[in-house]
Amino acid sequence: MRIDARIARLQLAEPFVIARETTTEAEVVWVEIEHEGERGFGEAAPSEHYGESVESAVAYVEEVTGWIGDDPFALDDVLDPLPKREYAARAAIDGALHDLCGKLTGLPVWRLLGLRQGGPPTSWTIGLSDPDEMARKAAQASGFRGLKLKLGGQDGLDVDRVSAVRRVWAGPIRVDVNEYWEISEALEAIPQFAELGVEYVEQPLPAGHPDGAALKKQSPLPVYVDEDCHTLRDVAACVERAHGINIKLAKSGGIREAVRMAHAARALGLGVMLGCMVESGLGIAAGASIASLCDHVDLDGNLLIREDPWPGVQLTCGVQVPSSSPGLGVREEVPSPR
Ligand code: MG
Repeated sequence: MRIDARIARLQLAEPFVIARETTTEAEVVWVEIEHEGERGFGEAAPSEHYGESVESAVAYVEEVTGWIGDDPFALDDVLDPLPKREYAARAAIDGALHDLCGKLTGLPVWRLLGLRQGGPPTSWTIGLSDPDEMARKAAQASGFRGLKLKLGGQDGLDVDRVSAVRRVWAGPIRVDVNEYWEISEALEAIPQFAELGVEYVEQPLPAGHPDGAALKKQSPLPVYVDEDCHTLRDVAACVERAHGINIKLAKSGGIREAVRMAHAARALGLGVMLGCMVESGLGIAAGASIASLCDHVDLDGNLLIREDPWPGVQLTCGVQVPSSSPGLGVREEVPSPR
């Protein structure tokens, strides 16, 4: 098999704000694996937060070029020996192999895995801003059946943000604090969120925070962890501090590990959420292929960008439905010259 990687830039439709950063453009890496005249593609969306970049992802792909062998169906033999770092790059390699296997067999990836085509409706994410602005964006959210509000403003206004949105949005609301609360703030806010009908709270405390177990015991709402849970190895330890985990392919290293994590979480009585980074339809298609394993889905990365260069996933009644075409079912759209 031949493997290549290239860097691509995705322009966001509007700046995306969370507690630790503002993003106007996302850089991703597209990996291509060619075998017997067929080509499979996968996307890496590296996160600075985890010490990864597009440059380090490309370097990883170049480093492992000689390791990938000649059998795209031998997923464990190809993926297991690769160094356990650069998880976004690993996810791109895993995605490209799944795309390739699907194309070689004529099956969409979700079917190759024996899964259902669609999962739960995706959340539409509203970035961190002042309460009125977040409510304005919530009122405009059409085509979605649930909202995820980014919180952690460190200005005492997080409850006001949720109240303002609740006034204009009757459907499900989830919130993501991105590690920006202390336990005192969490214990004050979460009961008020329960009154406002919030479904669950994502990563209220910093990853590994010693108050995690105490918060789980006292929280009237389910706590989901994201920054606390990367790969299968992390799942068991999350039982102490969370009611559920947020799986992202860019953290897990791809579909194969994500499926293991979902089953491990179930065995431990944890809820399963599927998230994403800002990524194109190529990365979202890989996530959408396993969405049916999850209780909650947040796969709106390709909807946050101005133009999706890899169309194929269809937002249908609020669900990100993967294509019925072979592989990941997306095709690169080369922009026409203007
Ligand atoms: Mg999160």
